[in-house]
Amino acid sequence: MRLSVLHIMLTDKKRSDDPADPLHRTFYGWGPQDTIEENWGNNRGYWVLGARANRESYVLFSHNERHEVVMAARIGKIIDAPGKPGRKIIEGEPLPEDHAVYRAYVGRPTPDSARARNPVTYFDSTVGGWPCGCGCGEEIYAGEFVRGHEQTALHQRVAQIGTIPEFLRWFDAVRAGTEPQPGQPPPPR
Ligand SMILES: [Zn+2]
Repeated sequence: MRLSVLHIMLTDKKRSDDPADPLHRTFYGWGPQDTIEENWGNNRGYWVLGARANRESYVLFSHNERHEVVMAARIGKIIDAPGKPGRKIIEGEPLPEDHAVYRAYVGRPTPDSARARNPVTYFDSTVGGWPCGCGCGEEIYAGEFVRGHEQTALHQRVAQIGTIPEFLRWFDAVRAGTEPQPGQPPPPR
């Protein structure tokens, strides 16, 4: 599958000066001190979104000065912004921190294709999802592992040998070309 992502560039948090704001916001823009729900509520509209947005599954938000993805959400539906012809509001919910898309993008640099003059871009993920290298079956869209799963994969291998000291002795012996026999005492150091 191909990962479809809408990308929106946010400014710093600013006071909203639109009395006709259909979202009744006091602020818009990225508030680093605010909860993700507040940031989602402040920034899910109203945007100029083309028809392509309706086909996207996820939306990423970056901060324009940090050049970093700060929020990810699943798109439920894109609706017309009441009283704002041509403007749209995104309905959906922010992704939890353990979601594969969150882990692949949030806290990482803004994708190059999204560093555009227009705040709204469409991010083409390289090839789409592939399975995490640890064997958990979770689908990822960047790197080789769900964040943290490389540790899981490593420790699973350590556990097949025994404790960490046992693993180190085994590893060193294998590297040296003298795989120890089971029960053999560790070589003197
Ligand atoms: Zn995994």
